[in-house]
Amino acid sequence: MLGATLGFDLGTSTILIYMVGKGIVLREPSVIAFNSETGMVECAGFEACKMLGRTPSSIIALRPLEKGVVANYRLTEQMIKYFLDKVCDKKFFKPQVIISIPNSVTFVERRAVIEAAKNAGARKVYVIDESLAAAIGAGINISAAHGNLIIDIGGGTTDIAVITLNGVAASTSIKVAGDTFDEVIKRYVRTKYNILIGERTAELIKKEIGSIVPQEYELKAVAKGRNLITGLPQSVELASSELTPLLAETADLIVDALMEVLEDTTPELICDLYSDGLTLTGGGALIKGISEYLNQKTNISVNIPDDPIACVAVGTAKAIEYEDILSQE
Ligand code: ADP
Ligand code: MG
Repeated sequence: MLGATLGFDLGTSTILIYMVGKGIVLREPSVIAFNSETGMVECAGFEACKMLGRTPSSIIALRPLEKGVVANYRLTEQMIKYFLDKVCDKKFFKPQVIISIPNSVTFVERRAVIEAAKNAGARKVYVIDESLAAAIGAGINISAAHGNLIIDIGGGTTDIAVITLNGVAASTSIKVAGDTFDEVIKRYVRTKYNILIGERTAELIKKEIGSIVPQEYELKAVAKGRNLITGLPQSVELASSELTPLLAETADLIVDALMEVLEDTTPELICDLYSDGLTLTGGGALIKGISEYLNQKTNISVNIPDDPIACVAVGTAKAIEYEDILSQE
């Protein structure tokens, strides 16, 4: 008997594992916490995420894949191992693992991820391009001679690709994505109100009230932080309308990247894209107003699958059915 087949989405914000026959078996933040003196891993995922910005000096909690690059190989490897151990009992049957890797990752980083998965106990490791995985996960037939536009807005990177005949016809990856919206909110609160807020707070505000287009009714949220002048805790009420212009400026960078990809796309494929619309995946697809905004700017209709954050993991596991697009390592 063989071990499990796992689709592993190594995201900058979220790690998801899809087990063939079971579905999504793990969905946790890509954060790891370790002891800075001994180097021992304390925890990863939800538990480690709670520690971000709250650790004593002996513990460091960080996101080893921030901005889509493997910033720290050893920690990335330990994180992969931690999550693989969590979902399967490898004592008897080692799993075969398919990992989705973004286009932007360098050859060296790609080798590091593959080695990490092998060292973590995988029997076989396959790699798939993340955009193809996102498309499969969104239910797109990637084998047809037909253009499909897929935009994945993750935490650290936005990956844009035109897919046809099991391959990528044009693509780009930019380091403007979900986290950039958080940074913009954080900077705004600091300059406008002299209050320093944490990254987690900025992200919560984005999720609650952040909108790329004006909302019919004003949404409000309280931002708590530290006053930079007095040094004391302070909170301020933010309205969605004060953030919208700044968030739209950031979304424009995504629109610019999309326009560049469209320029590199043949007229035949462009016609397909205009008739089918584009598919938006990743957690960034959940920010309010993003689909209206992309539609206004490009005239292309926008489809968002039911669970956009899970698309890559689902597609990565299902890719086992498309042997020719997987490379075994
Ligand atoms: P990655 O693939 O890089 O791990 P994800 O696809 O998990 O990233 O997306 C993470 C990003 O999505 C984060 O910036 C997060 O704040 C954002 N996000 C998740 N849920 C929402 C939401 N409801 N509204 C706005 N942004 C969201
Ligand atoms: Mg992702």
